[in-house]
Amino acid sequence: MYSLELRGVDKQYAGGVKPVIALDDVDFAVEPGEFVAVVGPSGSGKSTLLNVCGLLDDPTGGRRLIDGTDVTNLSERERTAARKESIGFVFQDFHLIPTLSAVENVALPTAFDPGDATDRAADLLDRFGLGDRLDHDPTELSGGQKQRVAIARSLINEPDLLLADEPTGNLDTETGEAILGEFERVRADGVAVVAVTHDELVEEYADRVVELTDGVLSGGVRVDDRERDGDGNDSEAADPDFPWLAGDGGEP
Ligand code: ADP
Ligand code: MG
Repeated sequence: MYSLELRGVDKQYAGGVKPVIALDDVDFAVEPGEFVAVVGPSGSGKSTLLNVCGLLDDPTGGRRLIDGTDVTNLSERERTAARKESIGFVFQDFHLIPTLSAVENVALPTAFDPGDATDRAADLLDRFGLGDRLDHDPTELSGGQKQRVAIARSLINEPDLLLADEPTGNLDTETGEAILGEFERVRADGVAVVAVTHDELVEEYADRVVELTDGVLSGGVRVDDRERDGDGNDSEAADPDFPWLAGDGGEP
């Protein structure tokens, strides 16, 4: 089973003279423990792709599955629950709450849960080298430190899928490597990681690099995935109808 699957996903934004096609018939599948880097020029649909994967935005066409469950169209409430259960998100501009300390920001996703997650939040920050910054407000942290707080927060609910928009964008090489090392650790636990990036270092760590151009994704499905369940007539490269995309949406 895939951690995440998009099948023929379109995303259009209304407005202007004609709608913007941000995602155009995107097929994308990520396995547990896989690390996929998404590259592409500005405006090519990278953030839209992450938002659709992360249930922050709905596709206008196609289907979306998380851990094999179709989550294409959920109510707001179901979407929030599914997101909390399965997904960690690292936003490009961090989205930290300015009035909360670092450790409170990390624990925030657990605010309505029983028990106190402060110790776990502190452990996560410690792993990211911020053990001495627990009580600092975001305004007292550097860009790289805020980035690490945001990544720690994304992991607090032990997601199956970690989505990150430019996770090393504001970091020096050493800190970037520390973050990538952390991604290595979570994916060893079976977490699928998808990161939008311009950073060659991220591409080095990734199992696979997929590229968006004007909303069209190339490399979104691995060749061996296309061949899996194939009929032995290996003409997949020329065949847009991948075997696992056909059928009833059951196990690939
Ligand atoms: P990237 O992250 O690769 O820079 P985006 O996913 O942000 O690209 O944007 C893809 C395209 O969709 C762009 O043409 C952008 O202008 C457009 N777009 C993104 N968000 C919206 C929105 N909320 N409303 C209208 N158009 C949008
Ligand atoms: Mg973007």
